Amino acid sequence: MNFGGVDFDTYLKNYPSLDGYYGRYGGAYISDELKAAMKEISEAYFTICKSSKFIGELRKIRREFQGRPTPISYLERLSTSIGNVQLYVKREDLNHTGAHKLNHCMGEALLAKYMGKKKVIAETGAGQHGVALATAAAYFGLECDIYMGAVDIKKQAPNVARMKILGANVIEVTDGLQTLKEAVDAAFAAYAREYKDAIYCIGSVVGPHPFPMMVRDFQSVVGIEAREQFLGMTGELPDAVVACVGGGSNSMGMFAGFLNDPVKIYGVEPLGRGEKLGDHAASLQYGEEGIMHGFNSIMLKGEDGEAAPVYSVASGLDYPSSGPEHAFLRDLGRVKYDTVGDDEAIDAFFRLSRLEGIIPAIESSHAVAYGIRLAEQMDHGSVLICLSGRGDKDMDYIIENYGEKYLK
Ligand SMILES: *Cc1c(COP(=O)(O)O)cnc(C)c1O
Repeated sequence: MNFGGVDFDTYLKNYPSLDGYYGRYGGAYISDELKAAMKEISEAYFTICKSSKFIGELRKIRREFQGRPTPISYLERLSTSIGNVQLYVKREDLNHTGAHKLNHCMGEALLAKYMGKKKVIAETGAGQHGVALATAAAYFGLECDIYMGAVDIKKQAPNVARMKILGANVIEVTDGLQTLKEAVDAAFAAYAREYKDAIYCIGSVVGPHPFPMMVRDFQSVVGIEAREQFLGMTGELPDAVVACVGGGSNSMGMFAGFLNDPVKIYGVEPLGRGEKLGDHAASLQYGEEGIMHGFNSIMLKGEDGEAAPVYSVASGLDYPSSGPEHAFLRDLGRVKYDTVGDDEAIDAFFRLSRLEGIIPAIESSHAVAYGIRLAEQMDHGSVLICLSGRGDKDMDYIIENYGEKYLK
């Protein structure tokens, strides 16, 4: 298949380029010190992660610790309530720790072990990436330093407790707005000091090369499993595949399995409260080209040219940029990016809970909402949705903010 002059038969082998570019996007815009560290990770990745020993060990971990493969569920009652289109979900909510993030954390931490590193370092916003990485660190016996803004530490008490129970150090960041951006800066600074003994583990397909590629490759297990399972269940490929896009890791993993198939692919960004800058985090929809956190992509900029404040009801989706590969796939026309706002996502959250007995993460509810929207527009066919995580973490927020409307 060919889109925008790019041949998708060989796409995953040819992209990114050796220096980490997907067309004009990607790269590594970082200090010389960090460049040396990234080069070490890149070289280790290409030698270690392609070895049969590493692949064998990761497969065993996925099977025996993570509980993979995760199933695909057919949503019979939800599908029937809409019409003639069959909806399916890939159940990353059933992956250990309740979301897809552990897929790349186990890969990154296994690489750290093979490289002889003693520590993993990362930032976290809502705490989901911190919990997944703390889990991986405990599994491999690695030290784990998680940088987190002071404001987020107050808001995310259960995840802070989880990280501490798992043995991680949660390091409070008190600069600036004391949230995710400052935590990223502090984690990068720590990594520049400690890279001889530590490895930085990013939380999505973002950051400098080689992270967008590594995280995609570790997450591609989602799409590869899903394609085979869907064919086994139905004898066909789905007509459409849908996933939500924050930084873009669950979606890139899912899409990687279907890029060379005659399947429509949709990435769903959060429209939050609406189209005004500051009310959403739909960077691919409303953003422009720019560099942040060491990579070139499409981002939402304020008047000062810096990353704009963003908002979504789903804290895992409120990032002002997206992985460089998403920007590339958008420009090629291979993936269509669209938006779902808070209200539509919350509505889908309750529909999936009540019609199917699956409580989704609010992030994943954006993908479910879009799948429902597609099913309402199509007169037959099938849609496969990536259910990136479970909603347990969102219970308090839902009861407090939507209890009156939905719970009687
Ligand atoms: C973190 C998170 C996301 C968003 O991250 P991506 O890198 O875009 O996948 C989506 N869903 C869940 C459940 C998450 O925890």
